[in-house]
Amino acid sequence: MKDLPRVFLPPDAFVDGKVTLDGEAFHHLCRVLRLKEGDRLYALDGQGQLAHVTLDAIAKAQATGTVTGSEPALGEPPIPITLAAAIPKGERWEWILQKATELGVSRILPLMTSRTVVQIDPKKAADKQTRWQKIVIEAAEQCERGRIPEVMAPMSLGSFVASPPPGLTLACLERAGSSLFAALEAAPRPEGITVLVGPEGGFTPQEADQLLAMGARGVSLGTRILRAETASLAILTMLAYHYELR
Ligand code: SAM
Repeated sequence: MKDLPRVFLPPDAFVDGKVTLDGEAFHHLCRVLRLKEGDRLYALDGQGQLAHVTLDAIAKAQATGTVTGSEPALGEPPIPITLAAAIPKGERWEWILQKATELGVSRILPLMTSRTVVQIDPKKAADKQTRWQKIVIEAAEQCERGRIPEVMAPMSLGSFVASPPPGLTLACLERAGSSLFAALEAAPRPEGITVLVGPEGGFTPQEADQLLAMGARGVSLGTRILRAETASLAILTMLAYHYELR
């Protein structure tokens, strides 16, 4: 596949074999990359389809193009993975969003636990979620994902435990976890996987018990204690190896 610019567009941008580019997509493609009429690009609908587009007309704030072909988008893991991670301090959360997207997550759930230091002001939560989603979209375009991972609204561990997700749930427990690979072998084809990673101070013993009582498998990532962001990326890499690369 040729190395053409890629952009995710909303579903209503695709009508009768034509696409309309406006807003950030227009700015990026026509102002930053300076695409011209006749140039080609890939437009993704975020639902798993990749369209081949040729630009027909470029106006002041909008461009239109013709879809010349389409194919299923690549870049998606065979099993949807949700990363439910406690928000660490500083820039590390945004780093996790970007890297987790590259490693194939379908959803990212910011988890509020007893020892989570970062508190989200409810008045700023929507703005933060929008910013986080933007980081994920940019990462998804850059790494050639077929779908945009969803950044969910922050959730307390108590609410998470009250409505367990379907599929396999893996709680990363640095001192009480057992073999990750045994857990994966015991559930050969789960409908989805949710991975929980604690904050800098770890899950409290009560939280770990709650997760295990809910049905999560406690898993170890080895004998070293990893920083929270390392643990998130380590388990996502191990899952990518297990489901996509073996
Ligand atoms: N303060 C904790 C301690 O000293 O025991 C360490 C917490 S660790 C920095 C942050 C999170 O990363 C943990 O809650 C856990 O989810 C995950 N984690 C780190 N190392 C791990 C390991 N070896 N196995 C499983 N999970 C790990």
